[in-house]
Amino acid sequence: MAAAAEVFETDSPAATEAIAGRLVRDLPAGAIVMLSGDVGAGKTTFVRGAMHALGHPGRVTSPTFTIVNRYDDGRVPVSHLDLYRLGPSGLADEDPSLLADELTGERIVFIEWPEAAADLLDPVALRVRLSHEGGDRRRLEVWRG
Ligand code: ADP
Ligand code: MG
Repeated sequence: MAAAAEVFETDSPAATEAIAGRLVRDLPAGAIVMLSGDVGAGKTTFVRGAMHALGHPGRVTSPTFTIVNRYDDGRVPVSHLDLYRLGPSGLADEDPSLLADELTGERIVFIEWPEAAADLLDPVALRVRLSHEGGDRRRLEVWRG
């Protein structure tokens, strides 16, 4: 992939949340945000900051077991997906309609572990790759469009 358009370094969950808020604030309904990175890199933390910026003041937890969490109380309705549980064969072995139900153009969709649905995700508004840099430090690489 081409070099990231933007790179950020953070040293706390709050700092990652703040950057997420700035990045997603103006996204329209229908926008897809892909979040890549190891377990614990901060993907769910990023979504938490994004949700607060989008007007959802409540709790934001990982949809690891439910695969999808929906938030309908903010400025734009949002779906937060975590495809980790689908494994390497991805949506092919699961329910392909699972994604179609979210990609209606009416919701902003955050997807953790998007590799499981790579072929089905186009166009993507924002791609974010988070990496551990020791302790509480994280690197966020961002691609747009
Ligand atoms: P993922 O969804 O990628 O598995 P989470 O967001 O669930 O990651 O977890 C990230 C963990 O790392 C949380 O416990 C969070 O508090 C911690 N953390 C420490 N420093 C940071 C940072 N700079 N940015 C994001 N999370 C951080
Ligand atoms: Mg997560």
